[in-house]
Amino acid sequence: MIGSGGRGAETGGKVLVVEDEFSLASTISYNLKREGFDAHTCARGDEAVKAAADYVPDLIILDIMLPGMDGFEVCRKIRRSSSVPILMLTARDEEIDRVVGLEIGADDYLTKPFSMRELIARTRAMLRRRTLLREELVTAEAQEARDEWLESDDLRVNTATRDVFLADKPVRLRPKEFDLLTFLLKHKRQVFSAERLLDLVWGYEAAVDTGTVSVHVSNLRRKIERDASRPQRLETVRGVGYRFVR
Ligand code: CA
Repeated sequence: MIGSGGRGAETGGKVLVVEDEFSLASTISYNLKREGFDAHTCARGDEAVKAAADYVPDLIILDIMLPGMDGFEVCRKIRRSSSVPILMLTARDEEIDRVVGLEIGADDYLTKPFSMRELIARTRAMLRRRTLLREELVTAEAQEARDEWLESDDLRVNTATRDVFLADKPVRLRPKEFDLLTFLLKHKRQVFSAERLLDLVWGYEAAVDTGTVSVHVSNLRRKIERDASRPQRLETVRGVGYRFVR
């Protein structure tokens, strides 16, 4: 596509600037916008908490000495509901000590006076870190979703919802039948004796013996095999035990 849809569509991120010194707030905002960020300024601490909720910034640049509510309190309040990166602007040594102590949940700080170049560099670094974290989270979630399904031929099992489908038709299994099936599916082709299955699937429950395993195997076969008397999926390995093959 030729042309641009305007700056808004390609913004480098939304930054909330909380600073009561008008000239400094304007300079920061001007430089952020020039570097492709979307910037919103706010001069009071109490308004900043509301702006953080309404504007939903990707990053907050937060001064400490503010009218209404100081930056420490603003940071603490925002942290109750958001993990947005917060860059604190400090002017005095005792402020630095409190920010560095991390008790308030800020991610980084800059000491006044600072250069605009330094501020932009920090902003970029913090936003990049946030993007990377988000990407990792999305990848981990996708992996988890994939891990939920166990498949073999036309049999599909969802370990999270405990749904079982055979050729896309739902199959009703009792809890222990489900546990036995998922266990064998996860260890496809591996042979397990009835005693071993009893330990691994049932655990050491008092009232069950290996007969329970064979009963569950037969029940499972009736539900997932085409012909339970000639099993194609859940095989008996004579004299050894059982295994899932298909
Ligand atoms: Ca101030």
